[in-house]
Amino acid sequence: MAKKVDSDKPAGARTRRAAASAPAPAGDAPFWRTKTLEEMTSAEWESLCDRCGRCCLVKLEDEDTGKVYFTEVGCKLFDAKVCACVDYQNRQAKVSDCIRLTPEEVRTLSWLPPTCGYRLVRDGEDLMWWHPLVSGSAETVHEAGVSARGKVKALEDDVPEEDLPEFVASWPTKVPARAKKKPGG
Ligand code: SF4
Ligand code: SF4
Repeated sequence: MAKKVDSDKPAGARTRRAAASAPAPAGDAPFWRTKTLEEMTSAEWESLCDRCGRCCLVKLEDEDTGKVYFTEVGCKLFDAKVCACVDYQNRQAKVSDCIRLTPEEVRTLSWLPPTCGYRLVRDGEDLMWWHPLVSGSAETVHEAGVSARGKVKALEDDVPEEDLPEFVASWPTKVPARAKKKPGG
């Protein structure tokens, strides 16, 4: 049996501009390599989200094993064409299981995608070439095939809960081939 788990959410509307436009001085390592999750400023924290939208997908948890499965069904507030929450400011009033990521959450959640900036930093890994903080562009997360843009088959209000298992997909738990190597790099 499967049950729905928190369809936490990314940061469609979170601001990344401040940190993204304020690179570290030449010779200094960027903040995500030098600071712990707990040490980051609010702007730095927000900028770690690459806006992939993977965590806005409905997830199912096997009640027997605890394993979490991603589906290609989006949260009811997810705009799959834009790849963002349509009401980020009021999301928690409208979607009760939308969680606001904190360092503690990041350290305890088992299902964060392998591409997620929070997970990568948590695990001591570097951000990849397509992350907006590295590329300087909000488009590269889509160009690398990491985001959920164009991959959402339905929104949760349109899918009966018993049909959700039909939408289970593995791509949200993987790093796409073209995300692993920078084009021309
Ligand atoms: S999976 Fe991580 S990086 Fe992607 S939108 Fe969610 S919080 Fe942001
Ligand atoms: S409410 Fe918004 S941020 Fe939260 S899961 Fe849904 S689409 Fe994502």
